[in-house]
Amino acid sequence: MPELPEVETVRRVLQERYVGQTVTAVALGKPTFYRPPPLAAIKTLTGGVIAAFKRRGKYLIVALEGRGEVVFHLGMSGRITVGGESPHVRFQMWIGTEAVRFHDSRRFGRVGCPLPDLGPEPMDPEFTADYLWNILRKRTAPVKALIMDQKLIAGLGNIYATEALHAANVRPGRAGKSLRRAEVEKLAAACRDILSLGVKAGGATLDDEAFLDPLGRPGRMQMGVQIYGRTECGTCGGAVIGTRKSIGGRASAYCPSCQR
Ligand SMILES: [Zn+2]
Repeated sequence: MPELPEVETVRRVLQERYVGQTVTAVALGKPTFYRPPPLAAIKTLTGGVIAAFKRRGKYLIVALEGRGEVVFHLGMSGRITVGGESPHVRFQMWIGTEAVRFHDSRRFGRVGCPLPDLGPEPMDPEFTADYLWNILRKRTAPVKALIMDQKLIAGLGNIYATEALHAANVRPGRAGKSLRRAEVEKLAAACRDILSLGVKAGGATLDDEAFLDPLGRPGRMQMGVQIYGRTECGTCGGAVIGTRKSIGGRASAYCPSCQR
């Protein structure tokens, strides 16, 4: 699933290419998403002049001059491309003469969805060790589930949460409240660092539905990944194992030597 760095990478490409241009038409794929764009979103986009592409957490936002914003969510498997064919085009808009296409094999993406309540992003000034401490210290849920809860912290998904926990030497299945203050401080810094690295690297291209930017370019974050999708820990070389209990529907990778 595209996480904050991947959505930010998409945003930057679109921002540089299309600000000030007009959305001349939009069209839905057949079939479109499970939840098709509402008429209001289509009306807002059609004929609108693009003021900016913005982002909040994993949401991409198209701001139109004088007519509000339309929120996009890439869902589980969404991709946005300039031109580009696939059997999974669910939505497209023409900006100037170019077709910007939203492909989504699993169809959980959204166009025109409400922006939900989201916590601060790890790079925001209000995301401090104190903030994370207050989230974790009374909760018994696994720390990984807590840092992936977008209402608490916006932007981390499976890849970056797995990496941040590894960098902080904390196992993903531990109860939030079991973390000591020093561990929380390390984890807060790791969340921030790992996402910044991901943005700088243009995202991670390593999943089954490999991420590419709108111009078809892969990211470079996968080269720095220490644990996600690996059989051996990138730090100590030991075997990576999965949590016995699933967290958010799947086993979660960690290194038993590096993480406590
Ligand atoms: Zn290790």
